Amino acid sequence: MRLDGKVAFISGGSRGMGAAEARLFAREGAKVAIGDVLEDDGRKVEAEINETGGEALFVRLDVTSEADWERAVAATVGQFGRLDILVNNAGIGGPSRVEDTTVEQWDQVMNVNAKGVFLGTKSVIPAMREAGGGSIVNISSQLGLVGSDHSSPQYQASKGAVRLFTKATAIQHAKDGIRANSVHPGPIVTPMTAAGRANPEQYRAMLGRIPLGRYGEPDEVAYGVLYLASDESSYVTGSELVIDGGWTAQ
Ligand code: NAD
Repeated sequence: MRLDGKVAFISGGSRGMGAAEARLFAREGAKVAIGDVLEDDGRKVEAEINETGGEALFVRLDVTSEADWERAVAATVGQFGRLDILVNNAGIGGPSRVEDTTVEQWDQVMNVNAKGVFLGTKSVIPAMREAGGGSIVNISSQLGLVGSDHSSPQYQASKGAVRLFTKATAIQHAKDGIRANSVHPGPIVTPMTAAGRANPEQYRAMLGRIPLGRYGEPDEVAYGVLYLASDESSYVTGSELVIDGGWTAQ
């Protein structure tokens, strides 16, 4: 199995892509901790993994809180003995025009999507150093690479921040054996995109931007995250894995 003996923490693992990654990692032999503000959904993923031969732990985590992160990492190491992999996956969207965006809306998205990734990374480094190294996978977006009129300025700014924060982490912690890479999904079928997919005009406009002509499935991203989390990518750090149906190719 590709993650045999590894312990992984996935933020935002209660649903969507994070839940797909938690299930896949467990199938590949990892013990998986899920941190999320959605407790009921997270407990369901935890139970499903535990009932199907895996080992999972749900921890209530607001990624904007440093104290929550400290508790979440301590609970994971307490239960599973070590920590090898962090997927900073939790994220939120937001409304869409510069002139209509309030300071509160800007701060909310930047806090979850950018500060949350910083705090998660900062919190796991001691445990990863202790484990002799680790792999951090930060979920950015195709909108962390190119601009778009289909999303908000704060979402795009936050995902651009994740891209370069990942490279800073990769450079600073290579000496600790800690790798850090970013993943850039395009439009994926998750609760985050449900409203847009339900709006025929918006849905058609999005499909028109995707050379493969469809939204991706959560597992199509999870397999890329799995590669970066596993030792198969042992020489890969500071890189960007684009999984976007060709969005950024044009
Ligand atoms: P989703 O809304 O289905 O899931 C996001 C999860 O993050 C939820 O479980 C939510 O509760 C959790 N979360 C939100 N705020 C949190 C907080 N403060 N603390 C802890 N958990 C929190 O979304 P998704 O589509 O699965 O998105 C996963 C990641 O992928 C996000 O970072 C998103 O920006 C990114 N992404 C999504 C798409 C897409 O099309 N769905 C495309 C590119 C990038």
